[in-house]
Formats: sequence, structure tokens, C-alpha cells
Amino acid sequence: MCLCYAVVIALYLGASGALTSQPLISDNGESQSKAAEHLKSIRMAEMTWPDIKSAVEQGYTTVVVAVGSTEQHGPHLPTMTDTRIGDELAHRVALKLGHILQATTITVGCSRHHFGFPGTLSLRDETLSMILLDYIDSLIRSGFKKIVFIPMHGGNFPTVRATLKEAQTIHPGIEIIGVTDIAKLFECLTSASAEFGIPANESGSHAGECETSLMMALEKNLVIKERFAPGYVGLTGEKELKTISEQGMQAVTKNGVLGDPGKASADKGEIYLDRLTEFLIREIKKQSQ
Ligand SMILES: [Zn+2]
Repeated sequence: MCLCYAVVIALYLGASGALTSQPLISDNGESQSKAAEHLKSIRMAEMTWPDIKSAVEQGYTTVVVAVGSTEQHGPHLPTMTDTRIGDELAHRVALKLGHILQATTITVGCSRHHFGFPGTLSLRDETLSMILLDYIDSLIRSGFKKIVFIPMHGGNFPTVRATLKEAQTIHPGIEIIGVTDIAKLFECLTSASAEFGIPANESGSHAGECETSLMMALEKNLVIKERFAPGYVGLTGEKELKTISEQGMQAVTKNGVLGDPGKASADKGEIYLDRLTEFLIREIKKQSQ
């Protein structure tokens, strides 16, 4: 999705209802459901400290954190797009894998290349790195033994990858992992788009069909269909990426879109969500000790 894909905040989701109604799936289902029956939410932001303490003692020693962005997403999608998608995916991954709590999503990322459009907030790379290190330090103090990061915004990937490597050296006794291979993520999405008969340039890397479908599935009231319009639909190769990084997105796309939202639908969005959840779970299992 978004080269700019992002993730996050518990607030948007009204989670408790969703949590009690969704089955918890786990490799060791019985102990999972026993431990989980006392948890109204796995979102730490919605829990009290005694409940977090008790969950960790009952085996919830893994925590997942999405890393999102707040940036323009064309004239038809809200600036929280990457954060919302990332938060949802982190939540689904945590529920499916079981024995995982979710820490508050990081809602602002590295988005300088979107500054040509109002509403974009950006951290410097070093700021994001410090936030990640402080998250890790805090989560270790809460008793977690394994910390999983899910970046959803392209601009965050290099910093997340480098910082997690550094953090693993600082905390050798803790397992710190992240799904930071953006090429594989794109591959997962474009293969789903191809099944719908939508070429990669329309599916897009920012606010195109794919990301718009995801938001129609998650936040249909925030998607403005009347404004759907193609953005840049040429190839996004090295030349275009260089232009974007040196001159900003507006040098390549006037409306802020890379792709074409025209064929987006909530049904496709649900399928993208399923594929992404499966992809993330595969990658996390591969990296897990
Ligand atoms: Zn995005």
C-alpha cells in the first residue's frame, strides 16, 4: 500500500465489544481462553495496571505495536489512514496468535515527503528512533519478553529496521522483532490486486485502490467517494522515488495520490485485511525464536 502505509490508535476502534465477540485463536487454545476470559480488551490503553500485570503473569508476555503516520492521503482519505490500518492489523495479529497484548500505536511517523500537503505531521528519523527505544524500555519494565513492531508506513521502515537491530543489542535477553521487509508487503498486496484484475499501478502505493478499499472496510464514513480521482498512475521506479524524496510528493502527484481509487470497495478491503493479517503472522512466526 502506501509507500506510506501506516498504522494505529486504539481510540478509533471501540474495541471492547469487538473483542468479546471475536473468538481468540491460539496454538494452545485452552490456556489461552482461560487467561483471556478475564480480559475485556487486549489493548493496554483500555486496561488497568493490575489487569496488565495479571495478564503478563498469565503468559501474555508478548506485546505488539503498530507504527503509523499522520499524513495526507489524497482528497478522499483521512490523514490517519496508515495509523488506522496498522492499528487494526496489529490487533488482528494479536488476537489470532493469542497471548499477546497491544500497546498504543505510534501515530506519527517520518512523512517529510508529504509536507507539500496540509495536515501532514512528521517526526525526524532520530525522533522516531528515540520513541521506539523508549517504547521498548517501557515495555520491558512492564514485564514483556517479546516485542513485535508492525510498521505500516513506507517512510518508517528504514528507521524501524535499524532501531530494532540496535535495541536487540541493548537488550539481549528480550526478543525484539519487526516485519520490516516492505518489498514482501507490497508483493502480498499486489498479488491480491491482480486476483481482482487490478494492475499494480492502479492498486497504487499511496491512497490508490488498495488503501482506499482498506479504509472503506474500516471507516466508510470517512471515505469521500465523490472525490475519487486518479493520481500518478505511471511506474513508481527509482527515478520517481528519488524525485519524491528530494522534492516531495507534489512533484509527482498533484492530488497526493499514487494509484487510482476508482475500483475500490469495502469487500476488496476485507480481503486485503485478511491477506495482510496472514502475511504478518507468517513473517512473525518466521522470525520468532
Ligand atoms: Zn497510506
